[in-house]
Parts: sequence; C-alpha cells; structure tokens
Amino acid sequence: MQVRTRFAPSPTGFLHIGGARTALFSWAYAKRHQGQFILRVEDTDVARSTPEAVQAILDGMHWLGLSYDEGPYYQMQRMEHYKTIIQKMLADGTAYLCYCSKEELDALREQQMQQGIKPRYDGRWRPEVDKHLPMPPAGVPPVVRFKNPDTGVVAWDDLVKGRIEIANAELDDLIIARADGTPTYNFCVVVDDWDMQISHVIRGDDHVNNTPRQINMLKALGANIPQYAHLSMILGDDGQKLSKRHGAVSVMQYDEEGYLPEAVLNYLARLGWSHGDEEVFSMQQFCEWFDLDHITPSAAQFNTEKLNWLNAHYIKACPMDKLMAETSKRLQPLNIYVEASSQLAAAIQLYRERANNLNQLAQDVAFFFAQPQPNSADVEKHITPEAISVMTTFVAKLSHLDWAVEAIHAVMNEVVTEQQIKFPKLAMPLRVMLTGGAQSPSIDQVMYILGREVAIQRINAYLS
Ligand code: GLU
Repeated sequence: MQVRTRFAPSPTGFLHIGGARTALFSWAYAKRHQGQFILRVEDTDVARSTPEAVQAILDGMHWLGLSYDEGPYYQMQRMEHYKTIIQKMLADGTAYLCYCSKEELDALREQQMQQGIKPRYDGRWRPEVDKHLPMPPAGVPPVVRFKNPDTGVVAWDDLVKGRIEIANAELDDLIIARADGTPTYNFCVVVDDWDMQISHVIRGDDHVNNTPRQINMLKALGANIPQYAHLSMILGDDGQKLSKRHGAVSVMQYDEEGYLPEAVLNYLARLGWSHGDEEVFSMQQFCEWFDLDHITPSAAQFNTEKLNWLNAHYIKACPMDKLMAETSKRLQPLNIYVEASSQLAAAIQLYRERANNLNQLAQDVAFFFAQPQPNSADVEKHITPEAISVMTTFVAKLSHLDWAVEAIHAVMNEVVTEQQIKFPKLAMPLRVMLTGGAQSPSIDQVMYILGREVAIQRINAYLS
C-alpha cells in the first residue's frame, strides 16, 4: 500500500506549535515509507479564513522545511466537486433532503432537553421503507443530511489511542450541505481524504469526535477507510492547554525569538514521540526512525528549557555561512549592517559556544561593529584613576604590535609585570572600554577581532 498522508490546516490563524507537530509527523511518516505528503488548505469557513493566514501557514512550513509532494489544494476550489458528490448521494439514497426549519429544530431541541435526553435530530425527513414523509413545505430550501446507519457500531483501531467504538445510535444524521448548497466541513474532509487517497490521517485529537461520522460517510461512498492516528494535545510549560498566554504561538515567532528551525523541528519531533533515549537527531534520522507506535497517547508538555538547550546545540553545529546570515539579519534591528566577513565569522566563533539563542548571539557580537553603550556600574567599578594610568601605558604599546592574539596576550602580561598589578586590573578596564561591559570571552581574542584601530580608538576615548 502506498502511504499518503496529509496536513489539512484551516487558515484561520498562524501555523502554531500543535499544527506544526501534526505536519511534521505526517511529513515524516510519508518520508519513512517513501510515500507522499499532501498539503490541503481547509478554507471553507469563509468568515474566518484569510489569505494572510494561508500565507502564514505556507511560510511556517517553508521555514521548517516541511515540503509537500502535492498541493496545496484549496477546498474552496473544489466546491463544484463536493456538490456533484452530494447529488450522487441524494440519488443513491445515502443522503436525503431535510426541510426542518430552524424554529422546528429549536423546538425539538427544547423538548428533548426537557425530557432529559441528548438533543439530536430525530430523523423526521429520513426516508425509510414504509415511512410516509410529509410534503416538502413551499419556499423552504432544504439542507442535505447524510443517512447515518442507525444500528451497529462504528469502530477503528486508532494508531495512537487504540480501539475506539461508537454506537451508531449516538450519531444523528449529519448535515452535509447547508440550505444554500454549500457543503459542510466534515463532508469536505471525507471527499478529500477519499479523492486524495489518504492512507493515514494523522491529526490532533480534537478531531476524534468527527472520525466515526467521517468513517460512516467514507463507507457510504465506497471509499477505503484510512488509518487514523490522533495526536494528544500539547500543554504549556505550566501544564495548562497551550494558548496565546504561552507566548510563541506561531512557529514564525520562534524565528523572531532567535530559534533555528532545526532546533524547533528536533524539539517538536520529541513532543509526544520517542526513540529510546535519543534527544538530538537530524530530520533525516528522524524520518528513518519515525513510527506511530511510539507516540504517547497522553498529553505532551512543552518545555522551553529543553528547546533552548537544543537551540544551543544547533547553534554550535550550524554552518558558519548560515550563522553569519542569521546574525547579520538580527543585527539590523540594532541598526548594524554587516555582511559576511572574516571579522563577523571570528566574532561569532568566539560567542557561539555560550549562545542558546540567535538574537542573543547578535546582541553579544554587536559591539564589534558599533560603539557599545557602556554599562555605568561597570565603568564606575573598573575605570578608576589607577586603571586610566595602566591603560595609558598599555595603549602606547599597541601601535607597533604585531597584531596577533599571542602578541596581544604577551603585551598584556608585560604591562601587568611592569606595573606589578594582578591581571584583572588590566583586563577588566580593557573589557569595559572595548565591549561596554565587564563580561566577555578572553579579552585578547576580543581585541584581536576588533582590530587595532578600533581598539586603540575605544581605549583612547576613556583617556582624554
Ligand atoms: N482543518 C482541520 C484543522 O485545522 C484539520 C482537519 C483534519 O486534519 O482532518 O483543525
């Protein structure tokens, strides 16, 4: 059997973390089985779907590198096709017209509530053998209802949740076309999964309740029933349902917040799925390992600390070209415009080991390219009259120095020996003058990368 999976977002907002994980699992499952991954935009809710949201979803998938083999298909472009199928179902008796007005349905509902029974359509327009149906009322446009089996059970072996069985008596006859002829959500999903020959539906478990209805409709259409894997929801760091309160709701916000897509992908891959104790793996590796047997049926909890840890890992592993591009992009909001250069590469190299975030990395290296804003507490603490005198001696030795880390280090040693001071008495004021603060990696390396001219100029600015 050919594996065909799909990601079927409704474009009513961003590609959020939950959606991205669903897409990733569907993508990986198709890859693992040399199948196809299909993107289908479920845009039939015209009041809530927007072109911006479609774009945001495409951007999010592009950023994550989740490429699709087919699509994007847009449900709105398939309306005529759904309508044709509805006509066929009316003709073969698997669907029927229902002329109940809203008032009638409200009254029915009211009555059922009073009787303490679950409100449901009572099948009054459902054709049955020997049943006499009323005359269709004039001027009432009918809806179309699916004739759901009224006995037996509908069951499936969910690949995450195990066997699920629902009595057909629990399901009433679903409206598949509204009075204006537009097909409804569940019906479009069914026709699409059928047409697109989806073999595995991997989706959020907020759709579990739709599945028995969808299976019944697929059966009525004579379609193959896909296998279903319903993924449990993702909880925030605080154990609550993931929501806007948790900050980054859109995957693109992770980009803005300084995460590499590799880190987000690796993180999402482990959100509810495991392969032994493996925590760090490439997408290629993931696609070789991914299966549906190791998805946990319980809710997965988001862990920002772990995501940060993975981000640090991928920043360390990132090719320098990409890291330079990321850093220079993130320096622009600081009004610093630098292209890839050996200086930028050296600055990044010095700072990447301690970085778990690209924005932080850009902020860390910013002082190489723009005069830093000095931290006043550090200035007060380290730029003492004694320091000024030490630095005056030191700067005088820089003009003719062979500009290399070892030579810089040697001249620092020379000054502390001559002046009979401890090393930090030189290194700390030097740090503040060059970087604006009292914390930096080895200052001889910083000074080397900064370059002779800028170093001398920054020191002199404190001496005049
Ligand atoms: N469009 C649905 C959603 O965004 C997904 C439907 C499905 O996967 O079957 O929640």
